[in-house]
Amino acid sequence: MKEFHSFGWYAARISPHLPKKAFQPVPSRLFGGLAYFLIALSGILAISLLDLHPIWKTLISVVLGFSFAALGFLGHEILHGTVVRTPWLRDFLGAVAFWPLCTGPKLWRKWHNVTHHAHTQDEEKDPDAWPAVEKLAKSRLLRWVYNIPFTIRAFFAFSSLAITFTLHSTRMLFYFLKDFQPRNRSIVFFQFLLPWATWIGLLFVVGFANWFFIFLLPLLIANFIVMSYISTNHRLNPLVPVNDPLANSLSVTVPKWVDVLHFNFSYHTEHHLFPSMSSKYYPLVKEHIKKMWPDRYHEMPMIQALRALWKTPRLYYQQTELIEPRQGNVYGSLGYGLDPSHIEYRKMENKKQVLTKKVAGQLKK
Ligand SMILES: [Zn+2]
Ligand SMILES: [Zn+2]
Repeated sequence: MKEFHSFGWYAARISPHLPKKAFQPVPSRLFGGLAYFLIALSGILAISLLDLHPIWKTLISVVLGFSFAALGFLGHEILHGTVVRTPWLRDFLGAVAFWPLCTGPKLWRKWHNVTHHAHTQDEEKDPDAWPAVEKLAKSRLLRWVYNIPFTIRAFFAFSSLAITFTLHSTRMLFYFLKDFQPRNRSIVFFQFLLPWATWIGLLFVVGFANWFFIFLLPLLIANFIVMSYISTNHRLNPLVPVNDPLANSLSVTVPKWVDVLHFNFSYHTEHHLFPSMSSKYYPLVKEHIKKMWPDRYHEMPMIQALRALWKTPRLYYQQTELIEPRQGNVYGSLGYGLDPSHIEYRKMENKKQVLTKKVAGQLKK
């Protein structure tokens, strides 16, 4: 059994090596946000007011999609309080940045800051964690999904990244609504509805053809971009008994210019060590982690991480492994035998030990 440490344990050891300014908010991040906001606004106006060829509209739509995603990354940062500290301003700016992705600040902070960060990769408590094989017995939907042949499932899983963020955040609204005090529930609901109302209102102003290029296509692109990161953040890592970011998180690497455009969102392990620190300083945190715990740190190029996701199932087996239940193929997770450059599996000798008789019977051979 590996020794785990909490994120506070690591943070306490790295903090003395960081400059004081690393713990201050960085309001200049808003210039990046303003640039994306102006680009998005210009794109929306150009599509609605100019008589452009569909090719131009498609190109502008792609730029809008990239801007929506980048604004989402900035919204994540803002709502962690790393840009401004005044609560109402933080929430207001966070709401503006998350407007294209239609996620309200109150719900996001509850779902992401309070729950995902505090209980990362805890099977029961992390709303973003993937299930363990035992859940097959309880969920007809999951059994249906795992009856689909692996390659077809992987293809649909990747295609669905284009809608997953929107679906998951809508699910989170209903999942968490009851946990808010009654007087806050209407605010949470309002913050969810307002962005949708403006986008749907726009549909009636500009007509469906233009709305497709202004909102629908960019939303799918933005979903795909943010989910390409989010899906690599923890899904190759094990479920853990202690919230240890070096065990349960992965930092991906992307070209420097992509990091600039995406506000260093690739530094996810660093983010889990210091969620209240501006991502501007994460390259520095990374240097220290790699010096202090080189064997524990997980890092790989984003393309390699996506490829590894494609090739592995998303059902946990005994916390540290992943299982394809139909064939009884068992894969490692990061730190537990998974080599992303050479993915292998072992055959389970008796899959009935893992699956109850009933579930085994419901899965095709
Ligand atoms: Zn995370
Ligand atoms: Zn976060």
